[in-house]
Amino acid sequence: MTMGKTSALSLEAIGWTPAWRNAFAATGGPGCIPARILREDRGLYGIVSEAGESLAEISGRFRYNAQQKQDFPAVGDWVVTEQPDGASHSIIHGVLPRTSAFIRRAAGRKREGQVVAANVDVVFLVSGLDHDFKPRRIERYLTLAYESGADPVVVLNKADLCDDPAGARPEAQAVAYGVPTLLLSAATGQGLDDLRNFLAQGTTGALLGSSGVGKTSLINALLGEEALATAAVREGDSRGRHTTTHRQLIPLPGGAALIDTPGMRELQLLGNDASLAQSFDEIADLSRRCRFSDCSHTREPGCAVKEALTGGQLDAARYESYLRQRKEMQHQQREHDIHLKNQEKRRWQAIHRSMRFHHKRKQSD
Ligand code: GDP
Ligand code: ZN
Repeated sequence: MTMGKTSALSLEAIGWTPAWRNAFAATGGPGCIPARILREDRGLYGIVSEAGESLAEISGRFRYNAQQKQDFPAVGDWVVTEQPDGASHSIIHGVLPRTSAFIRRAAGRKREGQVVAANVDVVFLVSGLDHDFKPRRIERYLTLAYESGADPVVVLNKADLCDDPAGARPEAQAVAYGVPTLLLSAATGQGLDDLRNFLAQGTTGALLGSSGVGKTSLINALLGEEALATAAVREGDSRGRHTTTHRQLIPLPGGAALIDTPGMRELQLLGNDASLAQSFDEIADLSRRCRFSDCSHTREPGCAVKEALTGGQLDAARYESYLRQRKEMQHQQREHDIHLKNQEKRRWQAIHRSMRFHHKRKQSD
């Protein structure tokens, strides 16, 4: 972390607004001060308050009252804290209500998820305009953005590597209709000011996009220094990346902040049907006229989606993309459920093993 423990960082420089002040006034008790979560590591939080940077833990009462994973503080959260006399750590008593949250699902059906970034105002959906440009990929990130509550901005990076960068813009807009689309290059600095326009003082931003599209480079460019080590893209190798992940909420020179957590980087398509419907609103509209309310829009009779497809009112590429995204979601859901089941199995195997050990009883499997 770059900010020293003694550095006086004004909270306004990382997103503290009158709205947060009001929210704090409504919940904060005597002796409590507001702080923002800069990073999280296994239950220990790096926070910054007007008193500077410190480490914090949640209070026993907080832990007792927390009902689900999402109740725990996450990077970007504003929290109510207290620094008891003589204590080495601050105590977190509560989390102020979030304005947005990126959630990584932790368990299949229950949709219990872990918040990987909170209170993001604007999320940049970054693509690279090199050989790997796939406009369809923007759609899945758009789904995540809508689900989070943050405002999406499409960023087409690596314009310097593209013969016709301007031609890519309508391609992107076709899948992200009405979403601001920026053309830029982290390498040459082209379009960087357009990006800064979305990062006014007090704004919290985040970047989403596949590995190698230039997220780290963009953060560096905004910082105006080589603050994060950019890794050269090696094919099929994204290891070594974790060296850059200990700084998770990064104050920018202009008074905005960027969230870059490992969880954000790993965030995949975890959307639910509602956010899928938002990305494909024309399909959602059509599906209201399907004969069956649980129509899968593939082979049912009276399917308004298929009719629109045949009639040419629905773009075939959109339809394909919708099916692909839905399938991917279902696949990830299944993978995740299997993973959880295996984990649970291993846990019980370990428990049984240790029971056998303790009872010194011979059992046959
Ligand atoms: P990340 O995985 O999204 O954080 O991507 P990086 O920022 O690590 O960038 C991956 C590679 O692309 C690095 O070698 C960067 O130097 C390069 N890169 C990033 N942005 C640009 C750009 O605008 N133009 C060019 N030519 N290369 C870029
Ligand atoms: Zn249908």
